[in-house]
Amino acid sequence: AKAAGGARWSLFDADRNRRELARYALSAAIPGALERGEFFLDYQPLTSLRDGTLLGVEALVRWRHPELGVLRPDSFIGLAEETGLIVQLGGWVLAEACREAESWAAGRDDAPFVSVNLAVRQVRRPGLVQEVRALLGRTGLPPERLQLEITESTMMSTVEEPVRALRVLADLGVRIAIDDFGTGYCNLAYLRDLPVTELKVAGEFVAGLRAPATDPASRTDERILGSLVSLAHALDLTVTAEGVETADQAERLRTIGCDAGQGWHFGRPAPADQILARLARARRA
Ligand code: C2E
Ligand code: CA
Ligand code: CA
Repeated sequence: AKAAGGARWSLFDADRNRRELARYALSAAIPGALERGEFFLDYQPLTSLRDGTLLGVEALVRWRHPELGVLRPDSFIGLAEETGLIVQLGGWVLAEACREAESWAAGRDDAPFVSVNLAVRQVRRPGLVQEVRALLGRTGLPPERLQLEITESTMMSTVEEPVRALRVLADLGVRIAIDDFGTGYCNLAYLRDLPVTELKVAGEFVAGLRAPATDPASRTDERILGSLVSLAHALDLTVTAEGVETADQAERLRTIGCDAGQGWHFGRPAPADQILARLARARRA
């Protein structure tokens, strides 16, 4: 029985090795995939809870892999961060998102902003300010129509220099959002030290709202959300709730005082032309 157990373990190890190898092969393929144009962006609406207008969209990267099909970011972003390739890939995402978003204005000032996820490596890179400034210059996208999403853990592992970079970007008018707020280390010092403009509250708090309001766990989530909204508004920040899946959740979030919602209830991540169609419909209405 012992021998059989040992054999199972080595089988398991072989399996794990194979998976690790596959991961590294995937990572090694990123530069070529960038050259061949295999990455593309979907955009997900950030909708006002007060009047339903489209405030912004989040750019979410996908990889149209020739053999594996369309890959979600969770299967390659972590890898790209480990290997440093995220700087190249993230640079492409930033450029593509700005280029696309610029075309949404069509001479009007009601165009949504585009929100781009920044990995810690990108924030730490000395050239970030220059990269963004050059990009805004080249595409003509006004700084207020670009939002950068950083996570709490990015802030925790970030030293003074990158914080200064974010401040320069904020002074230009670029929006800075804290992504997945409430799930990282609870250190609020960065809210004081950083030019943050928005908190994006993690979907797990919103998911709790699914239970009936009398459910104690649901009431706790509702109180946490209420406190986060009070904190944010006291600091002049806006709050977007993520992972809003039902009309009931949207209504409760509105009552709590959340400014915006993102999630399947308002729209799944979709190609840019669907965002444009929605914008055109809203402008005709
Ligand atoms: P995130 O920034 O928290 O993005 C939101 C994720 O939640 C997206 O998954 C989105 O499809 C999903 N989502 C949206 N609405 C709902 C909902 O109502 N219910 C549920 N259950 N899920 C919802 P996606 O596109 O797979 O992205 C996963 C993560 O990958 C993102 O999480 C983000 O951290 C990362 N990511 C995506 N694009 C980029 C990028 O360009 N750069 C970097 N560094 N990270 C990226
Ligand atoms: Ca995000
Ligand atoms: Ca998020």
